Amino acid sequence: MPSFSEWQQQAQNITISTQAIINGKACDALSGNTFDCISPIDGRVLGQIAACGAEDVELAVNAARNAFESGCWAELKPVDRKSILLRFAALIDQYSDELALLETLDMGKPISDSLSIDVPEARDSIAWNAEAIDKINGEIAPTGDNELGLVTREPLGVIGAIVPWNFPMAMACWKLGPALATGNSVILKPSEKSPLSAIRLAELALEAGIPAGVFNVLPGYGVEVGDPLARHMDVDGLVFTGSTAVGKQLLSVAGSTNMKRTFVECGGKSPNIVFADAPDLRAAAEAAAMAIFFNQGEVCVAGSRLLVEDSIAEKFIPMVCEASKNIRPGHPLDPATIMGAIVDDVQMRKVLGFIDKGQQEGAELVCGGKHVEPVAGGYYLEPTIFKAVSPQMSIAKNEIFGPVLSCMTFNSEEQAIRMANDSDFGLAAGLWTSNLSRAHRVSRKLRAGSIWVNCYDVGDMTAPFGGFKQSGNGRDKSLHALEKYTEIKATWINLDT
Ligand code: NAD
Repeated sequence: MPSFSEWQQQAQNITISTQAIINGKACDALSGNTFDCISPIDGRVLGQIAACGAEDVELAVNAARNAFESGCWAELKPVDRKSILLRFAALIDQYSDELALLETLDMGKPISDSLSIDVPEARDSIAWNAEAIDKINGEIAPTGDNELGLVTREPLGVIGAIVPWNFPMAMACWKLGPALATGNSVILKPSEKSPLSAIRLAELALEAGIPAGVFNVLPGYGVEVGDPLARHMDVDGLVFTGSTAVGKQLLSVAGSTNMKRTFVECGGKSPNIVFADAPDLRAAAEAAAMAIFFNQGEVCVAGSRLLVEDSIAEKFIPMVCEASKNIRPGHPLDPATIMGAIVDDVQMRKVLGFIDKGQQEGAELVCGGKHVEPVAGGYYLEPTIFKAVSPQMSIAKNEIFGPVLSCMTFNSEEQAIRMANDSDFGLAAGLWTSNLSRAHRVSRKLRAGSIWVNCYDVGDMTAPFGGFKQSGNGRDKSLHALEKYTEIKATWINLDT
């Protein structure tokens, strides 16, 4: 890992690609419009990025459709797509420092996380799906002897992928890996708050040999690029990660246009339940702090509601505060930093608004709560913990998407389950207990897509990821993700002719 000063030096010299990638070529938006890409580290402008619009969507959809119909990618043998995708994954590895630096400069996360979490996650998603694709068979239906029923899967065609800013490269690759492995063409719309790594990924994909038009990137705003992409009649599939509000809009846009297959991965307000019989309270407290403060709290599965059994609350909540003292915001390019900058001023003010509201509604602020400036001009917030939170308060109900923990207490297993499930969301949940039966009992009752027992926010490509309720539909990761990118076909053959 380079030192702090080496990262700063690299940041001065880095080349930033600012154009869209359409049909294998870097290009400006047809309108010539750009938007400023601002680093949350210090408020500095990193570059003027192509601000694409509906006319660029049109070009990219045509390019993606032509590439798909030509068969240059979709009709390759799976083993051949695999080898090109593995080359792409190897290039992600080769340029890991550069990709990590772009991610940190663009959205403010600590460089050590970008390098050890985001880049490997992106690479793994490409490589894992590539490795899977030549090992999956179709089915033969159990027919009589005079007929043959084939069950096969085919790529959807043209996929629009709209992703958020909290894990820009990893979220993009959770879509790209299965979409490309199954033979689709993709138009990726990164968040306007974090477009840089997506553009670089498309350059590396071309270098790896992915044909022109198969992977296009359109930077720009949600309403200007995301919406026309979602409405387009020649887009076959739409995959989205982002807020529940936008996810709902996309489902209705898809329903009112061409019924494109639409899968949305949305927000969360995940409970982390600590029973008095947790195996190691100190470990649980440290994990509870990281569950909310990792990535500045800008994590869909953040353990933002800490539910603590009454009998240990007085001891346990101070232990979480103590653990959070080690998580101070610092310069994101310093490898020692474990908490970086909030993505932008708008998000920081939104989080500060929730902190004010929590106090007005009567929750007790036990630590943090303020904007700090370890780097002048940047957007940093202290790890913030509230106790005496009640379930109807806004800080207990809404996804804050920042470093704010709401602590509540319960006095029975049933109450813990009821409180945990009392949410519009159902993305994830954690529970800490040394009672095996309770671990299974509670896990079964929790209405969430990922459950962690005596750990939090762990997993790899082998397990599906996604939500119940208003946290979305469909799943990213694992073999289940491949289903979203394919249509299933039944072919019935009469053998009596
Ligand atoms: P967002 O919904 O504001 O934006 C997400 C993307 O949608 C961006 O690219 C944005 O430009 C685009 N967009 C915005 N309006 C649009 C419109 N009208 N039509 C089409 N596209 C539009 O979300 P965000 O602030 O970027 O990300 C934070 C959210 O993402 C949080 O709610 C978080 O929980 C969620 N998230 C979920 C997961 C998951 O896997 N479930 C993972 C990461 C983040």
